[in-house]
Amino acid sequence: VEETLVLVKPDGVARNLTGAILARIEAKGYSLVDIRLVQPDRSVLAAHYAEHEGKPFYEPLVEFMLSGPIVAIRVAGDRVIEGFRSLAGTTDPTTAAPGTIRGDFGRDWGLKVQQNLVHGSDSPESAARELALWFK
Ligand code: ATP
Repeated sequence: VEETLVLVKPDGVARNLTGAILARIEAKGYSLVDIRLVQPDRSVLAAHYAEHEGKPFYEPLVEFMLSGPIVAIRVAGDRVIEGFRSLAGTTDPTTAAPGTIRGDFGRDWGLKVQQNLVHGSDSPESAARELALWFK
């Protein structure tokens, strides 16, 4: 069975949306395999977002991800990588479709980084790498 890494980002935890996000994952039929509340080191975020290093939103993104606790979840299910990204909706919460996590709960904070509530791995390779990073 396929696995993915889901993160409830600091905005989601601070806004008490963790339960609502978990409920959608479970209602879709995916299984929660492991879950932890994490206050990550900068090094974890640097590795997690290595592909974005040098981009204009990189530093604000890392600072945002250090701004409060994160919930890391190992989720399993058939085609869960693609399926969770579908549940999450597109990156920009203002234009994400209603019915998605970002479309229903996210808003545009007008900052240098999209505070879009969740992260989901985007490929089997990313999922393996990210799960190893967040569940050492
Ligand atoms: P998606 O692939 O659906 O966009 P993602 O979370 O995988 O979701 P990435 O492109 O990997 O998105 O970017 C990581 C994160 O960086 C985003 O979720 C968002 O918080 C932030 N981000 C990405 N692109 C921008 C941008 N152009 N401006 C501001 N923040 C951004």
